Amino acid sequence: MTDIHKCVMQQNKKSINCIEEIVAQRLCHRCGSCAGICPKGVIGLDDDYYPRGEKGVGECTDCGLCVRVCPGISFSFPGFSRRIFGREVRAEDTRGIFLKAFLAYSADPAIRRNSTSGGISTRLPLWMLETGRVSGAFTVISDPGHPWKPRAVIARKPEEILRGAYSKYPACSMNHLFSEIRNERGPFVFTGIPCQVHGLRKMEETNKSIGDRIALVIGLFCHSCLEHQAIKDMMSIYRIDERMLGEVCYRFGKLPGYVRAVTRSGQEVYLPYPQLPPGKYRPNAKEVLTFFFKFYSPPRCRMCIDALSEFADISVGDAWIKGWQASDRLREGHNLVIARTERGLKMLEEARDAGAIVLDPFDRELMMTSHEPMATMKRLRAFHNIARAKRRGRPHPDYGFEKSFTMQERTRAAMNAATYFAADIPRLRRFLFYILLSRPGRYLIGFSFFRRRVVVALMEKLKLKMK
Ligand SMILES: Cc1cc2nc3c(=O)[nH]c(=O)nc-3n(C[C@H](O)[C@H](O)[C@H](O)COP(=O)(O)OP(=O)(O)OC[C@H]3O[C@@H](n4cnc5c(N)ncnc54)[C@H](O)[C@@H]3O)c2cc1C
Ligand code: SF4
Ligand code: SF4
Ligand code: SF4
Repeated sequence: MTDIHKCVMQQNKKSINCIEEIVAQRLCHRCGSCAGICPKGVIGLDDDYYPRGEKGVGECTDCGLCVRVCPGISFSFPGFSRRIFGREVRAEDTRGIFLKAFLAYSADPAIRRNSTSGGISTRLPLWMLETGRVSGAFTVISDPGHPWKPRAVIARKPEEILRGAYSKYPACSMNHLFSEIRNERGPFVFTGIPCQVHGLRKMEETNKSIGDRIALVIGLFCHSCLEHQAIKDMMSIYRIDERMLGEVCYRFGKLPGYVRAVTRSGQEVYLPYPQLPPGKYRPNAKEVLTFFFKFYSPPRCRMCIDALSEFADISVGDAWIKGWQASDRLREGHNLVIARTERGLKMLEEARDAGAIVLDPFDRELMMTSHEPMATMKRLRAFHNIARAKRRGRPHPDYGFEKSFTMQERTRAAMNAATYFAADIPRLRRFLFYILLSRPGRYLIGFSFFRRRVVVALMEKLKLKMK
């Protein structure tokens, strides 16, 4: 039995010390649920959004709620799928249980244009607020003091929801906000990544009144988030003074987009390779972020098995659709939207009928092949890392089921996990990051994506012509 398990079973430590242990053992998602549920308000967050005991921690009554709601140590997929959907999801179902899938976008062209994908995660909460369905929305904006850093807020006005547009990839806590709305009836619309949704579901299970105040759970697809150190290292390599930054957008322009910063004086800077003149080859946001994740994916993300927010009412992601590489549709702004619960489907249909969003039915079979390799590889990699942790007697999360591997899957998972070799060696990763961020480094990224960017696009163009 690991220290974490002894902790959870209250065998050797106070709960607040278990939370510290969960962080120390790298099992913490930074979802903020422990801080959000604590009745004494003695759990705060550090600069990187990890929970820590605040002043007054002596008031902790050791009620154990913080550990009970923690999704970092356990989240039972079979248990929660039974509770939410009435049947059990299997380890092989990487898309989760769902009713219908759609290709969707905001009917408001400005929101569609100024959003990550199709703007559904902005338009839907906004419409719910405008029509009085909710009094606020869980939203992630850019921290005004550190424009590269995300910060979760409860948006209560339309303009505050609009500030949440665009995905912010550095790690962000969300569920600590429940302490802010403890005395409010709401209801609220919750938008978050899968681990934040897991935390919310555990909080609702522990305290029914939390669930009663949530009108809708919108879950974003998630491959991984980024350690804050990724952006700090990039700024130090390029000698960018954080105080000069006015705005950072990790997905500027439509799919695949570019990472763009705007200085306080209004100058646009594309990252990485800020000195590169326009017209020179520059990897796009998807390619750049994929490489950033190899170095700066937090350890807990590498053991996370939920790619498509399987426990949300509605899951929302990019429209990575087979056959779209050569198509202009990729750049028009679409979301792939999955309605998982009746409540989610009803809200989508009402928003469509009111003219707030556009919904096109998306074929179930195509849904099962979209987001390859993200959905499949993420799960294989996580189970591979969990199995390795078990063999070594190290702490690992418990999802209530295990995956049995074929020989081919075992090899794919091991090879993929190996590509993260530098992520746990800070000096090596900074050195490799430095090389990658040098001007020739961009060809390394380009070369790795050559097949997808050039060969796949050419094949698709050829197929379109032959039709
Ligand atoms: C860390 C992260 C990883 C992702 N990985 C993938 C992926 O691999 N594949 C994929 O298809 N999609 C991924 N997404 C989702 C994708 O980037 C878009 O968020 C999604 O397609 C919704 O697009 P939209 O146009 O509706 O969002 P917008 O209308 O631009 O709204 C953005 C929404 O995201 C919320 N948000 C922004 N940053 C965060 C954050 N850090 N944590 C929680 N909420 C946040 C905002 O509050 C807002 O509700 C990821 C998102 C995040 C935050
Ligand atoms: S009061 Fe309860 S929830 Fe808060 S830190 Fe102590 S044990 Fe955890
Ligand atoms: S509840 Fe969330 S933030 Fe708190 S320790 Fe667990 S994973 Fe970390
Ligand atoms: S990969 Fe999992 S743990 Fe990491 S940010 Fe995404 S949902 Fe959270």
